[in-house]
Amino acid sequence: MDFELGEAEKGFEKEVEQFLAGRRSPEVMDPTPEQLSQTVDTPPKRAFMRELAERGWLGMSWPAEYGGQERSGLFDFVLTEALSRHGAPQPGKGVGIVGKTLIRHGSEKLRAEFLPQIIRGEIEFAIGYSEPQAGSDAAAMSLAATRDEENRGWRLNGTKIWTTSAHFADWYWLGARTDTASKHGGITLFLLPMTHPGLTIQPTWTIGDERTNQVFFDDVFVSDDYVVGELNRGWRYICEALDLERFAMMPIGPLEMKVQALTEWVRTATRDGRPLREDPVVRSGIAQIHARLECARMLQRRVISEALKDRVPTIESSMYKLYMNELGQHVAREALDMMGAGGTLRVGAADAPVGGRFERSYRYTVVDTIGGGTSEVQKNIIARRGLGLPQSY
Ligand SMILES: Cc1cc2nc3c(=O)[nH]c(=O)nc-3n(C[C@H](O)[C@H](O)[C@H](O)COP(=O)(O)OP(=O)(O)OC[C@H]3O[C@@H](n4cnc5c(N)ncnc54)[C@H](O)[C@@H]3O)c2cc1C
Repeated sequence: MDFELGEAEKGFEKEVEQFLAGRRSPEVMDPTPEQLSQTVDTPPKRAFMRELAERGWLGMSWPAEYGGQERSGLFDFVLTEALSRHGAPQPGKGVGIVGKTLIRHGSEKLRAEFLPQIIRGEIEFAIGYSEPQAGSDAAAMSLAATRDEENRGWRLNGTKIWTTSAHFADWYWLGARTDTASKHGGITLFLLPMTHPGLTIQPTWTIGDERTNQVFFDDVFVSDDYVVGELNRGWRYICEALDLERFAMMPIGPLEMKVQALTEWVRTATRDGRPLREDPVVRSGIAQIHARLECARMLQRRVISEALKDRVPTIESSMYKLYMNELGQHVAREALDMMGAGGTLRVGAADAPVGGRFERSYRYTVVDTIGGGTSEVQKNIIARRGLGLPQSY
């Protein structure tokens, strides 16, 4: 495996860095909060996404016939990492999950309708798999899609939970049960406008200050045209998309910036009149964090290396997600230990070390270990698919 970027990717990285370095727009780019601020949930962030699109930076690895440039996935990686380092919004579910799945499995009609809008940065998607009784075991979803033969479509009734972007997205990408006879073979993927009558969206706030949503479906009609791929094959597409999500949605840049900020703080901070940087426990903690960050970077490169071979890097993605999320929590815990009582001061409080960022990080990193599949679920994937161990439950 060669983990170095080539000349073309390095040149592109420079181009993106130059583009970002000249920008000062706090409502779009804020390198201090957690990744939740990097979703495309406001008009200025949407305008920024269209600007990226105009530069040809969205869907770079897509086939030319769908507006892509058939560049290697490394270009997408370079872009996402650079954006995340500057606290800028990143091309998310549209390019990475919906677009790629439609290219592989979507009808000509859906490709023609959605791919141009995605690649122009014009639409945002919410992902609806989880339900009150179906989280880790998402295939247990029961939101009912009942056949409406007369109108050539489906009627949806039930509830989704944790639909993160529902309050600002344009379209819903969701799984529903079209057959009760088979658990995994009875799920179909649908596309639905978020403003559709019969949808009710209610907020849920997480411990990390992030808004997610519960969505209620009351006899919501979807025509056959908006079925993604084949009927009852949705679970297969969802599994592929989950692998893409674990990989594509998790740049390492934000954690690198946090580690950098913590290290800088330790250089100058004092405790009881003595420089913190001279405390052997603090020194050891910082050294361990840097070493583990390097391991995370290597795991990320393995994911990319596998993805470039045109296979979905299931096991590698799980290893990376597990390691990154646990490391994120570790960094936040260590930071609060180093900061003492001051570490509990929130963003905006006077004298909060590193602007209160680690108090927030301490809360938010818990959420990281749940969304996109919990740490325990990642361990199961690694054990069963990676190590060939028997199923234990
Ligand atoms: C902030 C946030 C955003 C999210 N965004 C979305 C979204 O946009 N769209 C969407 O569809 N979903 C989303 N989710 C849902 C997320 O994928 C689920 O929360 C997650 O899969 C866990 O499901 P659960 O909450 O029902 O927990 P459960 O599945 O009930 O798990 C509870 C506990 O049991 C453990 N556990 C469960 N099964 C096993 C097992 N087999 N072996 C070992 N341990 C196990 C889990 O690890 C966990 O600790 C989001 C969640 C959060 C918190």
